[in-house]
Amino acid sequence: MDTIVLKFGGSSVADNDKLKLVANKIIQLKKEGHNVVVVVSAQGKTTDRLIAEAKELSENTEDREMDVLLSSGEQMSTAKLSILLNELGHKAISLTGWQAGIYTNNTNQNAIIEKIDTTRIKKELKDGKIVIIAGFQGINEKMDITTLGRGGSDTTAVAVAAALQAENCYIFSDVDGVYTTDPNKLEKAKKLETLSYEEMLDISSEGAKVLHNRCVEIGDKFKIPIITKSTFNDKQGTIICDKIEENTIKSIVKKDISRISIVGNGIIRNISNIKTVLDVIEENKLNMLEFDVSESKMSISFKNQVSDKILNDIHAKLIN
Ligand code: ASP
Ligand code: MG
Repeated sequence: MDTIVLKFGGSSVADNDKLKLVANKIIQLKKEGHNVVVVVSAQGKTTDRLIAEAKELSENTEDREMDVLLSSGEQMSTAKLSILLNELGHKAISLTGWQAGIYTNNTNQNAIIEKIDTTRIKKELKDGKIVIIAGFQGINEKMDITTLGRGGSDTTAVAVAAALQAENCYIFSDVDGVYTTDPNKLEKAKKLETLSYEEMLDISSEGAKVLHNRCVEIGDKFKIPIITKSTFNDKQGTIICDKIEENTIKSIVKKDISRISIVGNGIIRNISNIKTVLDVIEENKLNMLEFDVSESKMSISFKNQVSDKILNDIHAKLIN
């Protein structure tokens, strides 16, 4: 039987009603005949709230203690989801990071996963259970709890998928997938069907907060397809995987106020696309500070602020 890993973000598990939606998704996939491993984030804004509450107690919170505190958010989600799945008649078990065998280095608050001992996870799967793992946490050599840095549950999910040699890693959240540009800024933004790991890393490094960067690196290293999808509809999401020889423009990102990046494999060889962008810059009499092209990314920094209209123009010419 193949194994799939499903990760649900904070907004997907925010309250009991949402947990019910999540449970139904899990049951649906389990019924398709997979071993199902689930990784969850803390509910809603729990992590922010815990940080704020700790800061009220001390301005110099110790990283070790913050890890003990913050890891509790994810643990609550695992227990609630497991209680619900068992209630619905599907055997499930919650595991903390250490119970799941996730070993990290000693950097509290920003730990790196060093190895995953999958013995316990595999035993529970063999018993037919849905295994629910607390995201964003592990244990170090001192047997202290560590956390992986904000947004780290994505990284837990892909690392667990790699360790289990899973078929896919689904990242469920409140967005449908990865778009050609920020859909809140531009109505014409299109959802992408597929992206390479490299393109996804380029997009994230330009500030688009779709996935935790480290999870894309792990996906690339172990060749785990990452599928980003919405928890709240059945629309097809975006698949991040290895793609051979394909070059279309994937994304146009405006970072801060004076930098635009265009991402797509092979962009360096597509002179006409480069020219199109330079023409828009010239027509709008923009002052370039820096122009940089790599295999899959072209970035331009400007002297002054650039408006969303420029983003719109470039998007319209290269994508729409
Ligand atoms: N709960 C953690 C955070 O809010 C980890 C995560 O959501 O991935 O940063
Ligand atoms: Mg989160």
